[in-house]
Amino acid sequence: MPVPVFTGADIMFRNFLARAGYPVDPPFEGFSDELCFIPGWRKTNNAGYHFVGAKEFAEPRTEVGHRLVVKLLLGPLDGWVLHRCGNASCLNPYHLYVGDADQNSRDRKLHEAARAAMNVENSTEDVGQWVRKPKPVALSQEESLMTRRFPGFFPDRCFFADWLHFTFDGYPQLCESEHPGAVVGAHRKIYQLFNGPLNKYDILIHACNNKHCLNPYHIVKFGRENVDDWDFKYDRRCKINQAGREMIKDRTMSAKEVSQEIGLHIQRVYELRRALG
Ligand SMILES: [Zn+2]
Ligand SMILES: [Zn+2]
Repeated sequence: MPVPVFTGADIMFRNFLARAGYPVDPPFEGFSDELCFIPGWRKTNNAGYHFVGAKEFAEPRTEVGHRLVVKLLLGPLDGWVLHRCGNASCLNPYHLYVGDADQNSRDRKLHEAARAAMNVENSTEDVGQWVRKPKPVALSQEESLMTRRFPGFFPDRCFFADWLHFTFDGYPQLCESEHPGAVVGAHRKIYQLFNGPLNKYDILIHACNNKHCLNPYHIVKFGRENVDDWDFKYDRRCKINQAGREMIKDRTMSAKEVSQEIGLHIQRVYELRRALG
């Protein structure tokens, strides 16, 4: 598959944002069939796995990165997600497939034998890169248990995942939830996996003007929400109306009085007062 070239309206829009002073992450570079895709901006656990926050799920409200990739790009997931490349941190959808325990153990043997033959611990890592793209020691050819294949991301084509659900404000999300797209939108997970780091206050917009689109070529960081505005708009621990908000700002009332008046934990009143300066 040819690697798509990043051109046209997207890059012009990105340059426009950069000139206007917005923090612009490097453009998404696409995936290669052969090389891994390891986001250099993400931390992994000891096993090499990424964990991404997912408020729409029950506790622990996170999902493993490579499982997220399958859920977002390939379809509803039932089973294990295995790495053809044997590289636990890789998020390249071409290197992921749905398999079982037997396939997992055959893959492990394949990768161990390849490493032994090459006399290396692991595939060579280009550490320090924005996206690390080591060449795998071997690529498993096991058959995926999922029939759908990833069709690729292209700069001039939107990407839709029609198996996802929608938030009340019209963004795709992984499962039904009461949260808005600015909290649980699937495009926010795509950005964190493939584009760059994302703070919960960061605003993302679609350069293609289609909020159903999950193409990382089209998703751009566009400034930040005001921190206290965000907490009032989106934090479900904090269902406060305008009157309550005025009370929190009103320093003639003690935190205890505010807490009793609007039924909020006193610690939360302190936090919000700090957030509001
Ligand atoms: Zn890989
Ligand atoms: Zn698009």
